Amino acid sequence: MKILLASSNKHKLNELKNTLKNFEIHTFDEILSPFEIDETGTSFKENAFIKASAVFSALNERQKDEFMVLSDDSGLCVEALNNAPGIYSARFSKEKTDKANNAKLISELKKLGLKESKAHYTACIALVSKDCKLSTHGYLWGKVLDEERGENGFGYDPLFAPKGFTKSLGELESGVKLEISHRTKALNFMRFLLQKKG
Ligand code: IMP
Repeated sequence: MKILLASSNKHKLNELKNTLKNFEIHTFDEILSPFEIDETGTSFKENAFIKASAVFSALNERQKDEFMVLSDDSGLCVEALNNAPGIYSARFSKEKTDKANNAKLISELKKLGLKESKAHYTACIALVSKDCKLSTHGYLWGKVLDEERGENGFGYDPLFAPKGFTKSLGELESGVKLEISHRTKALNFMRFLLQKKG
C-alpha cells in the first residue's frame, strides 16, 4: 500500500521520505487540492490524528483502498517555560514565522535571566488507513540557547543543541540531524509496525 503524507512542510518531507525509503510515498498536494486543517487538539497525538484523519476523509473510495495517510505533529518543549511552546511551537509568536518564534523564545529565556534551559523536541507520527490507526512518538533531548547559531535545519534548530553535542542543530551537518531527530525515531518505530503489519 502507498503512503500519502499529510504535510507540505518541505523540511519535514525530507526527513519523512528519507526514513520511509522502501515505501512508495506521495505528497498531499500531488493528490488533493490544498485545504486548511484546524489543529484543535490538546496533545501532539490528537493533532497528528486530526491531520491524518482530515486528509484520509478527503480521499475518494478508490484512494482510500490505495493509500495510508501519514502525518507528523511536532514541537519544542522547554523545561524553564513549563514545556512551552509545545503543541503551539509553529504559532508561538504573533507572526508565526521561524524568525519571530525564535526571537520570542530568546526573549522568554532572557526574562527569566537564563542563558539556556533543558529542552526536548517531540514528534508524533500518526497513520490512518482503512484497516488501522497507529501512532508513534520520538524525542530528541538537549538544551535551548539564548542566541541563534548556524543556518541549517528549520524552526528552532539554530537554538537547540542536542545532548552530547556542543553545536546547535543549525550548525551540525543535516545528516547528523537525520540520524538523531525526534521525527526519525518516531518514523523508525512506525516503519517497524508497518513491516509487522505486512
Ligand atoms: P506542526 O507543523 O504543527 O507540527 O508544527 C511544527 C513546529 O514545531 C515547527 O513549525 C517548528 O516550529 C517546530 N519543530 C518541529 N520539529 C522541528 C524540528 O525538527 N526542528 C525545528 N523546529 C521543529
